[in-house]
Amino acid sequence: MSRYGDLSPRALWWLENCDELDLAEACASYEATLERVRQLHRAVEYGGQTICAECSAWDGQSTNNPPVAHDQCGTMKALAPPKGTQCPTT
Ligand SMILES: [Zn+2]
Repeated sequence: MSRYGDLSPRALWWLENCDELDLAEACASYEATLERVRQLHRAVEYGGQTICAECSAWDGQSTNNPPVAHDQCGTMKALAPPKGTQCPTT
């Protein structure tokens, strides 16, 4: 099956309704959104651990929530692209 045949209905809509410039702009906007989320859920060092700033409610010196190890951050796990689908520029 071709990749075209594997596209979701939403992806087909984008292809049918947008030109290359629109798609490039949408990709750039998507990447910027991902970067803002990554900055929120950035890794910080605290108490000898690498923790997620957002999930741990990091205030710059301490946490207001129980510390969440950065590699256990559910948001970062959810953002990880499926294997083979990562944009080559990221
Ligand atoms: Zn997090």
